[in-house]
Amino acid sequence: MAKLDFSAINKSASKSFNEQRNLIKKIGKGETVLCAVCQQPLKLSVSSVGEPGVKCENGCISIGLEVEV
Ligand SMILES: [Zn+2]
Repeated sequence: MAKLDFSAINKSASKSFNEQRNLIKKIGKGETVLCAVCQQPLKLSVSSVGEPGVKCENGCISIGLEVEV
């Protein structure tokens, strides 16, 4: 009987979550992080309009900031 291996799926999801957190931390420290899609520098958006987060100028990537970050 075959078993479905959900642990692998959960592992990859949490890895990408950690990567996003690290990415936000790097940008918060003033380091340049390039968009994985278009290779443009990602920008920290903390304006009062809209949700704060890290965004690509071209809109490929948009990562929301958590309150605790
Ligand atoms: Zn991009």
